[in-house]
Amino acid sequence: MNYDIVIIGGGIIGSSIAYHLACDGRAGTIAVIERDITYSKAATPRGSGGIRQLFSLPENIEMARYGLDFYKKFDQTMSSKGDQISISFRRQGYLFVSDAGNDKVMEQNFHNQQKMGVKAQLLDKTNLEQLFPSIYNNDVKLAVYSPDDAWIDAYSALNGFKSKARELGVTYVSEEIKSANIQNKKIKSLTCIEGPTVKGDVFILAAGAWSGEVTKYFGINIPVEPMSRESYFFLCDKEIEPLPFIKTETDLAFRPEGNGFTGGMPNWSVKGGWNWELSPTRFEDTVWPSLAHRIPAMETIKLERSWRGHYARNNLDYNAIIGPWAADPHNLLIATGFSGHGIMHAPATGLAISELVLGGRYNTIDLTRFGTERIIAAKPYRESGIV
Ligand SMILES: Cc1cc2nc3c(=O)[nH]c(=O)nc-3n(C[C@H](O)[C@H](O)[C@H](O)COP(=O)(O)OP(=O)(O)OC[C@H]3O[C@@H](n4cnc5c(N)ncnc54)[C@H](O)[C@@H]3O)c2cc1C
Repeated sequence: MNYDIVIIGGGIIGSSIAYHLACDGRAGTIAVIERDITYSKAATPRGSGGIRQLFSLPENIEMARYGLDFYKKFDQTMSSKGDQISISFRRQGYLFVSDAGNDKVMEQNFHNQQKMGVKAQLLDKTNLEQLFPSIYNNDVKLAVYSPDDAWIDAYSALNGFKSKARELGVTYVSEEIKSANIQNKKIKSLTCIEGPTVKGDVFILAAGAWSGEVTKYFGINIPVEPMSRESYFFLCDKEIEPLPFIKTETDLAFRPEGNGFTGGMPNWSVKGGWNWELSPTRFEDTVWPSLAHRIPAMETIKLERSWRGHYARNNLDYNAIIGPWAADPHNLLIATGFSGHGIMHAPATGLAISELVLGGRYNTIDLTRFGTERIIAAKPYRESGIV
């Protein structure tokens, strides 16, 4: 197997990169190496699909905005005869709630978001009560509501990227990479578990939470490791107004889903590593009381389903790592470490990597500060406020 461009990992990031490269028409032959066509452990199908512009860093805001526009038109762009794509794009907004004393940071971020054209609203208790009366607000200092934000079905988006990429000539190779052959400071080929060797000119790492393991084959280290997160789907029998995707400083993150709600409370301080075991107590002891505190009508919810998924957590600063590896091997590009933002940032990442590979520079969104130089120099570039 011999390709111009080889992408390692066919989740939403790898598939968006493949799609954007193939769209351009100048990329040559492209292969995506994906070991699990069912995506049984990948982050993408387990994610909540939220897309929000409520960030502090301009790159994250711009990437999310690109994602919003892109996903809004996604069904139309990706559907073809006999392959109807629907990602259930739902524009029902995001609400950030300051309930742990970081209101000054949230307010500052709101002003910066406004300067960047985000149509967010700063809400005091009264405004919050008018818009969302089911939210308990006695301990809320302020909130920021971004009505243009949305959520999607991420697994359908992954399938949309993938089927369109294939239609445009991309090859998906169902293999697992287990080592690399490096000569003269360049990756020459990858060896797969089932035996084949995949040669290429340019290699792009998009292996999600496995990226830290894969980079070892190239003799390099990146600070990306899996962060296990428990999620839930629950029903509520009380009447509640249509809610946006709510995130609080006290780590609640949930949104409406079908006839119920989905979400959880990510714990950023959890030790890195794979953990698929459901906690017998976390929902009842921690998550449910927090939900019932913030939305008193949720006192009587019924838990229907729990599952675990893993963020690719970049321990340096929790932000994505995007760009060419700024040392040897020098024909490697990296797109990983997205934590809880990879679905919303996948379209912009695909575009950015394709601009780099085909033209050597960013044309649309300058992501230089998300590059690998900061990783090598161990200089964090952090979000402030809710991550
Ligand atoms: C509970 C939860 C909620 C989330 N909520 C949101 C949200 O609301 N909004 C948002 O934007 N993001 C969210 N995320 C984050 C988002 O899901 C991820 O950032 C995104 O899916 C990452 O995509 P990926 O393609 O990098 O990784 P993945 O989807 O994990 O894909 C990586 C692929 O690489 C393959 N691979 C790995 N190693 C090898 C190898 N050696 N050989 C071949 N193939 C290999 C794997 O099989 C896998 O399919 C959430 C994540 C979780 C877990």
